[in-house]
Amino acid sequence: MFGWLRERRRRSIRTRPFPSAWLDILRRTVKQTAWLSDDEAERLRAWVAIFLTEKRFEGCRGFEITDEVRVTIAGQAALVMLGFEGEHLDRLQSVLVYPGDYLAPKSAPLAGGGELEWQEERLGETWGGGSMVLAWPRVVEGGRLRDGPRSVVIHECAHAVDMLDGEVDGIPLLASPREAREWAQAIDECQSHFEEALDEGRSVPFDDYALESPSEFFAVATECFFQDPHRLARFDATLYDLLRQAWKQDPKRRVPVHRR
Ligand SMILES: [Zn+2]
Repeated sequence: MFGWLRERRRRSIRTRPFPSAWLDILRRTVKQTAWLSDDEAERLRAWVAIFLTEKRFEGCRGFEITDEVRVTIAGQAALVMLGFEGEHLDRLQSVLVYPGDYLAPKSAPLAGGGELEWQEERLGETWGGGSMVLAWPRVVEGGRLRDGPRSVVIHECAHAVDMLDGEVDGIPLLASPREAREWAQAIDECQSHFEEALDEGRSVPFDDYALESPSEFFAVATECFFQDPHRLARFDATLYDLLRQAWKQDPKRRVPVHRR
């Protein structure tokens, strides 16, 4: 669609009243919305409304897509995207939702020829930035902050933002190539620091799945940055600052230290 036409449509969506039924859903399913300032809450609602107009939702394995499902997913994504004015993840066209964790076929070539095939359990993934696949129970847990720092929506949004510059390298969009280089070097040191802590058997704030690759490190650390920012900052203040720079927001300022 032409950029100006899309912009005009988005402007009109931003001025429409936000349905009160959607507000109730956000209150219940995206716990973090309770801690937003008025300005942040208003921007979040506008982003949700645009997301729901522009993205296609599809239920897999008989899963029914309801307003609860759509608003919950859009609300969690909007929280992460609050710092990016005007960024609506245009490459992302569809959101596929499964009723539970799902199996994805995997294969790898064998040394002597032929292929090894197996099924891998997944809770979410992003395909080239065009589709996001999510397991609904994981979405619910992430929004209610009941699964520690995990959040499959935040994780997949981190991959989508990582891909905005066309590369899946764990480096988000930054102001200049020089800034991106320095940022990449600094987060690489944080990854080594995390690895050392694991080796020494120290307690770490997020899952060791982060060590799969730089892009997974960015995505898993981002989950913790939003879901448990105080713990992340205590563990590694540099990592917290790098993510604050990447996401252009500071969740530590709004999320209460003791929230249970
Ligand atoms: Zn991932």
